[in-house]
Amino acid sequence: MQIVEPNLRFNGSLRNLNNVEYIIIHHTAHPSWGLMDTHMYHRDDLGWAGIGYNYFIHRQAIIYKGRGKKQGAHAGGSYNNRSIGVCVAGNFDSQTPSEEQIEACIWLVRKLKKDYPNAEIIGHNGVSNTACPGRNFPLSRVIEEANKTESKPEPSVTYNGEEIPAFIEDGRSFAQMRTLADLVGASVDWDQDKHVAKLNGNEVDGTIVEGRTFLPVRELGEKLDLNVDWNQEKRQAVLSK
Ligand SMILES: [Zn+2]
Repeated sequence: MQIVEPNLRFNGSLRNLNNVEYIIIHHTAHPSWGLMDTHMYHRDDLGWAGIGYNYFIHRQAIIYKGRGKKQGAHAGGSYNNRSIGVCVAGNFDSQTPSEEQIEACIWLVRKLKKDYPNAEIIGHNGVSNTACPGRNFPLSRVIEEANKTESKPEPSVTYNGEEIPAFIEDGRSFAQMRTLADLVGASVDWDQDKHVAKLNGNEVDGTIVEGRTFLPVRELGEKLDLNVDWNQEKRQAVLSK
């Protein structure tokens, strides 16, 4: 797994975050909003600098940087300057987070704990009178697992040692087409009229997440004439020429 840098545009400059005492877990409390919906709502409707969360986990479990290690706007004035806010997309009072989202959240929080070993992991409802992150969110499991230091490696996709943004859904690995195509030297185009991506001139039926096209790794391997090996020990799909 990795954190995707979406290069969001913020209004004004963000303050530095020095002293991180808490890692605070949120949900969007919205059934379908993604990164950009949240960013634009916070920036353009609420008039903030931009998305208030430090990190954002999409419905398809891709981890995006929001404000990163700059001061966020997610848990009130007395906490924002001393916490990292991680938001998981969904309304977990009515929906249930996917296993992939939960694993991404655990992975991210565990990574943050390496940078801020003394930070306490809590739900938004631990510092404020709110239902966030929702009654269906397995907060105690996330806290327990993220506090463990040992873990099995998370699934990933690589080409020539370079990690490709990827997610796993229903046991299938999907990798971001353009990143891989650039590394392989294949061409990617976007047909504006048909709203379909093309790989080496051929239309592909990909899954579009936040404007980026993802294809099953097996299919990408076939289309780009690459070998696909699965390294069970490292839980890694290894693509090669
Ligand atoms: Zn919240």
